[in-house]
Amino acid sequence: MIVNTCGFIDAAVDESLAAIGEALARNGKVVVTGCLGAKQGFIKKAHPSVLAVTGPHDTPAVMDAVHAYLPKPHDPYTDLIPPQGVKLTPRHYAYLKISEGCNHRCSFCIIPSMRGDLVSRPIDEVMLEAENLVRAGVKELLVISQDTSAYGVDVKYQTGFWHGRPTKTNFINLCRSLSELNVWIRLHYVYPYPHVDEVIPLMAEGKILPYLDVPFQHASPRILRLMKRPASAEKVLGRIAGWRETCPDIAIRSTFIVGFPGESEADFSHLLSFLEQAQLDRVGCFAYSPVEGAAANDLPEAVPEAVKQSRRERFMKLQAKISAEKLKARVGKKLKVLIDAPGVGRTMADAPEIDGVVRFKGGSAGEFAEVLIDRASEHDLHGRRA
Ligand code: SF4
Repeated sequence: MIVNTCGFIDAAVDESLAAIGEALARNGKVVVTGCLGAKQGFIKKAHPSVLAVTGPHDTPAVMDAVHAYLPKPHDPYTDLIPPQGVKLTPRHYAYLKISEGCNHRCSFCIIPSMRGDLVSRPIDEVMLEAENLVRAGVKELLVISQDTSAYGVDVKYQTGFWHGRPTKTNFINLCRSLSELNVWIRLHYVYPYPHVDEVIPLMAEGKILPYLDVPFQHASPRILRLMKRPASAEKVLGRIAGWRETCPDIAIRSTFIVGFPGESEADFSHLLSFLEQAQLDRVGCFAYSPVEGAAANDLPEAVPEAVKQSRRERFMKLQAKISAEKLKARVGKKLKVLIDAPGVGRTMADAPEIDGVVRFKGGSAGEFAEVLIDRASEHDLHGRRA
């Protein structure tokens, strides 16, 4: 088994170590890759029996490790892997990675020190991969990177070619080109830079899913400065209002960190008031935990653990109320869903794994269906096929 790890925050490190343990218990033969793989000694200490540990973005090393323990039989046909490559998600959706690394230096994050500065993939290469995935039956592409809205900055938005057309390597051209593939296109890790506004009309026209995953992390300008966040809080509420004016159906997902060093009760209240006003659709919240090597570890005024946890609970309680009201507003509507498994689908507002689902009877994975929503529970919707 191959375990892809994350070293972004301590919770993810714990989760990655637990996943390695689970894989070892189930299978006994495990290769570890991903961000946390950069800390080979750390993983080997926790799980000495893993077969190999490779760093992030190192497919050749992963494949070498796999072939060292599972030699490839000599068969000329095995080299003819499908043009869409090998992917581990279900057949009907796939992640499309458009760049690697990040030019920011958020004080709580060690990704740039592990993965380096932003390196955008050439637009023709990204589009070819997307087109091959769609040809292979993918119905939904999830665009990911560390900073999707910065796509092309490192190559000065150089012009590439797509189907013989000159196409600049930038966020909006990528979105326009992807929209021509006529599948669901979902954007993750988008920062609220001004140029992001240009993609909202594409959402209103139904060319890109009306869904934005924007990791705000906080709302207090003081804490955002300490976090060294890009595109910080100023005018964010106005921007969100503008997005909703252009595309009333837009679903906004975000993540936040509470209990960051120096976060006062006033900063936290500011965050709660932002949450109340922003009315986001889906929200994740972490209590801050220091990550080895992060600059934020040197900041004074650490928030006591009990305060962090209580702030997280207060935050989640408020958001649970907002999310429940948002879900309730969908009762009685007929919604299009993409079916992940019989009886379980997702609407345009729900990304796989992280958002809610729609439960109903029937259907097969990869099909689209119309579902009439009868009721809403805390995170999910329930209904019947229309
Ligand atoms: S934007 Fe900040 S949090 Fe995200 S990868 Fe870059 S440095 Fe880390």
